[in-house]
Amino acid sequence: METIRVPVAIVGAGPVGLVLGHLLDAAGVETVVLERRSRAYVEQRVRAGVIEFGIANFLAEVGAGERMRDEGLVHHGIELRFEGRSHRVPLAELSDGHPITVYGQTELVKDLNRLRLERDRPLLFETEVEAIEGLEADRPVVVATGPEGPVRVEADWVVGADGAHGVATRCVPEGVFSVASRTYPYAWLGILAEAAPATEELIYCRHERGFALYSMRSPTISRLYLGVDPSESLENWSDDRIWAELNARLATAEMPTIEEGTSSSARSRRCARSCAPRCATGAWCSPGTRPTSCRPRAPKG
Ligand SMILES: Cc1cc2nc3c(=O)[nH]c(=O)nc-3n(C[C@H](O)[C@H](O)[C@H](O)COP(=O)(O)OP(=O)(O)OC[C@H]3O[C@@H](n4cnc5c(N)ncnc54)[C@H](O)[C@@H]3O)c2cc1C
Repeated sequence: METIRVPVAIVGAGPVGLVLGHLLDAAGVETVVLERRSRAYVEQRVRAGVIEFGIANFLAEVGAGERMRDEGLVHHGIELRFEGRSHRVPLAELSDGHPITVYGQTELVKDLNRLRLERDRPLLFETEVEAIEGLEADRPVVVATGPEGPVRVEADWVVGADGAHGVATRCVPEGVFSVASRTYPYAWLGILAEAAPATEELIYCRHERGFALYSMRSPTISRLYLGVDPSESLENWSDDRIWAELNARLATAEMPTIEEGTSSSARSRRCARSCAPRCATGAWCSPGTRPTSCRPRAPKG
């Protein structure tokens, strides 16, 4: 069995785990990041896409924003659409000139992986954490299985950055925090389409048939979401049906149809929110998805 001893073990190589690893590295603190998926998988997994002003600045300040600055799409407003009409919200005008940046979370993960690996810092892909033991002791142990077999990491601090459904929360001793969660009666069906965006800014649309979001990732790739019934199987959503539904929800007199493209990925996710207090206790701490304040009911982008 491989045993690693390190001051900080980070479970999960999403944006939160990778940014934290990057910051600790800059502060001279050694870390190991354990990620259950392969590098290829996390660098292709389609995720979020809107980065808010403060985060974009922060990433630039810590040296992780160079490609985002060159390739990200800066938007000064968004459109809210309901009852067949569009209403532009001039975000930058309303917030002392703070735009948002459209830049795929996947791209950010690629940048952060590269930064970490260029510095030769340990990032163990295909290493699934199964348990975190001894959290109330001085030196907890992360138990995982990697491509070569069992891995044991002894650390002063273990950081659970493994997302909303990760293992870390389950390992926290009872009574440390309480989690309140609410499951909404809809799921997000997201597609990535090879189609030039039909709009310059994001459109968030409320419609009696359900929510729709027109977003994009680049001048040639659109990212679209539909709020759907979570009990319905993804197989029922053919490309034709997805485009018909997007058109039905997003249509206005000025934009009766949107350009269809080849959809290269589709996924459906039940929407649940959970909120817990930010937590750092004993040798365990949890940033990221779980402890942040409640997310909006719709995907941002
Ligand atoms: C539809 C949708 C749209 C969104 N749009 C936006 C947006 O536009 N802008 C925005 O800011 N946010 C958006 N979000 C939220 C954003 O995606 C999350 O806040 C973000 O992914 C959280 O990052 P994270 O690093 O905490 O978790 P994750 O990105 O989930 O990363 C966790 C990592 O841990 C790994 N992992 C899990 N379990 C284990 C284990 N047992 N062992 C080892 N590794 C493990 C996972 O493989 C993953 O790589 C959106 C979310 C959804 C669902």
